Amino acid sequence: MKYCPVCRDEFMDHVKVCPDDQVELVEKLEPEQHEDEEKQVLLYDLNDAKLAEMVQGVLEDHDIFPVMRSDMFASAMSVRGASPIGTQVKIFVMESEYQQALELTDGMIRESETE
Ligand SMILES: [Zn+2]
Repeated sequence: MKYCPVCRDEFMDHVKVCPDDQVELVEKLEPEQHEDEEKQVLLYDLNDAKLAEMVQGVLEDHDIFPVMRSDMFASAMSVRGASPIGTQVKIFVMESEYQQALELTDGMIRESETE
């Protein structure tokens, strides 16, 4: 079974994206967050799916689990490695993890801007 990190609905394994929230499903849900305690903040709005995947990888290596939101059409075609041109990916992290996430990924974002 797979789960939506936003609405926490359960889906069959063959489903990749939540039809309601347009986000990729995950194997394991994070512990439920109470609304008043913590909210997600936008870390990056990238137009490069490969770079977004790399950012996600670095964050998950440091136990920060971002929510990736990408435009539906492009993500359906380019999930995992197809041509990322035209894919817009928004990366959200928890408010308390924002600073650490920024420090971990700032260098690779700057590098990609100079290429
Ligand atoms: Zn959902």
